[in-house]
Amino acid sequence: MATIWSRSFASTLTSPKNQVCSILLRFGTGKCMAKRRSISNLAKLPETHEMLRQTCRDFADKELAPIAASLDKEHKFPLEQVKKLGELGLLSMEVPESLGGSGLDYLAYAIATEEISRGCASTGCIMSVNNSLYLGPLLKYGTDEQKKKWITPFCSGERLGCFALSEPDNGSDAGAAKTTAKLEGDHWVLNGTKAWITNGYEAEAAVVFATTDKSLKHKGISAFLVPKPTEGLSLGKKEDKLGIRATSTCYLIFENCHVPKENLLGEPGFGFKIAMATLDAGRIGIAAQALGIAQAALECAIDYAQKRVAFNQPISQFQGIQMKLADMEVRLQSARLLNWKAAMLKDAGENFTKEAAMAKLAASEAATYISHQCIQVLGGMGFVTDMPAERYYRDARITEIYEGTSEVQRIVIAGKLLKEYGQ
Ligand SMILES: Cc1cc2nc3c(=O)[nH]c(=O)nc-3n(C[C@H](O)[C@H](O)[C@H](O)COP(=O)(O)OP(=O)(O)OC[C@H]3O[C@@H](n4cnc5c(N)ncnc54)[C@H](O)[C@@H]3O)c2cc1C
Repeated sequence: MATIWSRSFASTLTSPKNQVCSILLRFGTGKCMAKRRSISNLAKLPETHEMLRQTCRDFADKELAPIAASLDKEHKFPLEQVKKLGELGLLSMEVPESLGGSGLDYLAYAIATEEISRGCASTGCIMSVNNSLYLGPLLKYGTDEQKKKWITPFCSGERLGCFALSEPDNGSDAGAAKTTAKLEGDHWVLNGTKAWITNGYEAEAAVVFATTDKSLKHKGISAFLVPKPTEGLSLGKKEDKLGIRATSTCYLIFENCHVPKENLLGEPGFGFKIAMATLDAGRIGIAAQALGIAQAALECAIDYAQKRVAFNQPISQFQGIQMKLADMEVRLQSARLLNWKAAMLKDAGENFTKEAAMAKLAASEAATYISHQCIQVLGGMGFVTDMPAERYYRDARITEIYEGTSEVQRIVIAGKLLKEYGQ
């Protein structure tokens, strides 16, 4: 596949495979790069990642930003653009090339997701679900056979996956899942309802969590690979949402839904562990989404402040406005550094649970703050759909909710922190 990575080097290299190999020779593999990274790398991106950032930014400016408002207004899934993301290798960034992916590291994923979300938050969300919530657990826990069947066809943008953990009665308390899976002969039989499933309408496969032994509580939850459509699985209505309105969100309803025995992902009872590990990594993607929205809002505010004249001067000359812009920039850059750190820890194979929660918390709250301030800088123009400020504000809000609310992130961070201090 001619990925975005290899395209950047297309003029100097030959086949796509050789292109990637040459890049790895030139810069080291993701893992080697991760080992060599230090705090100084947080100040400046490696050349390869800077190129990736620029390419994603160009794509977002050209293909996403101009249509983001109409996608939002019409609640229209960006099908064509998602296919292009697939062609560019942005829907399977961490998947090795041997399985059809781009074989990049998580820092690259964080950077690309931020840039895509800067152009269109809905598209960034769709991208992150396929990369981290669907392909992520398959890559980590799938058998070789499962990887071939459930990963490779989902790398190119032709097919998308989704992740079904939440239920109508339990979101934060995911261990209380009520959906059941019972082994009957050669099949698991699933019954129950999964709520809020992103990509629910478009996805052709789902990683679904269901309890195989209720008495064991969260330790009785297992993960399953469910094709879509399939008998016994129906969809609820599309949710009418405040933000990321170009994504589809719906219930997945299981009524005696039979899936083959071999569709169990990981060991029986490993589901909760798989879900939590998936969300750890996923939070880096949500932080990146939030950063993209925040960056777009900051740029919008600066541009407007430089052009809008009040009291005979551009409003950017007022200290009251400058204070706002300064606070926005500080929150944005601090959150970005936290996210890069979390991604680098993951790439280095170290524990990153606390850092990912910190990054998600900081970035999502920064996005809410920055988009709120952006509206303020624009005054009345911030309040109408002629300008993107109100959309940034609406889109930012979800990043404080999904893949663990801000309250849940604080619980995770405090739990780890107290453990570090011996509690
Ligand atoms: C647009 C959208 C897309 C989504 N996509 C997906 C998806 O693809 N797959 C999926 O599985 N899920 C998805 N979700 C679900 C999402 O992850 C949950 O909404 C989220 O985890 C919160 O769960 P909840 O809505 O049940 O809120 P609740 O858990 O009911 O929480 C309500 C409030 O109580 C607070 N609270 C709960 N427990 C505690 C506590 N112990 N201490 C302090 N405060 C607490 C929460 O922080 C929140 O403020 C999506 C949700 C939305 C809105």
